[in-house]
Amino acid sequence: RDVGSRPFRARQLMQWVYKRAEPSFERMTDLAKTFRAELQEQAYVRAPEIITEHCSADGTRKWLLRADGSQAFEMVYIPEPDRATLCISSQVGCALDCAFCSTAQQGFNRNLSTAEIVGQVWLANRLLAGTVADLARERAVTNVVLMGMGEPLANFRNVVPALDIFLDDCAFDLSRRRVTLSTSGLVPQIYKLAEHSNVALAVSLHAPDDALRNELVPINRVHPIAELLAACWHYIDERNGRSVTFEYVMLEGVNDSRAQAGRWPSCSPAVRPR
Ligand code: SF4
Repeated sequence: RDVGSRPFRARQLMQWVYKRAEPSFERMTDLAKTFRAELQEQAYVRAPEIITEHCSADGTRKWLLRADGSQAFEMVYIPEPDRATLCISSQVGCALDCAFCSTAQQGFNRNLSTAEIVGQVWLANRLLAGTVADLARERAVTNVVLMGMGEPLANFRNVVPALDIFLDDCAFDLSRRRVTLSTSGLVPQIYKLAEHSNVALAVSLHAPDDALRNELVPINRVHPIAELLAACWHYIDERNGRSVTFEYVMLEGVNDSRAQAGRWPSCSPAVRPR
């Protein structure tokens, strides 16, 4: 909401909230007192609530979060020598019913709001602040992947503004190559995303042909592999440095035979259709 302040105040406020992960308007000391009082009255900074946290020996941390008092969603932090990736959720549950996915079993509950999506990165940066010397200059989370609960492109309206905040240099200031949206293949929304964002796209393929993919990723019955690959090529725009990667979960005895690997060239993304 417009509080009648100047644009540079908005930039200062964004830097406090997103870069420094500061939840208290009172402590934003370079903002005018009257502006802080106005914010105090009209807004709040609140992260999702942590229900459980699990830390693995390799440094991976998994949180179960709650934002509305009942329904839970997950985020996972994966540290590596050259990056620190946060895998976040875009929905509570999912309607797409992929055969190998535990989220699918709970069905679809609701879309996460933009604030709940952004709040995951905000919360992780704040929780992990002790791992970097200066949170305002150096991010605890260097990469974000929308690969947790939900199909991000089924929550387009809330996900795209969140992507904008991840990339905004007044906010999280992440490079578009460090933000990856993973989709099971909602073809019309891939074309729509191409108009709105330059983030990296990851596509869950998981099968070399339509017959098997229809079983593993049922959205394939609506948007088969050929349609999906055409949308991917549309998304790749070298002028903007966009990239598409393909994910393939190896399921023993289901999609991991030599014969199936041999069928790959016919749908390989390495072979651009004419
Ligand atoms: S789209 Fe993703 S979250 Fe949804 S059922 Fe498929 S794998 Fe699971």
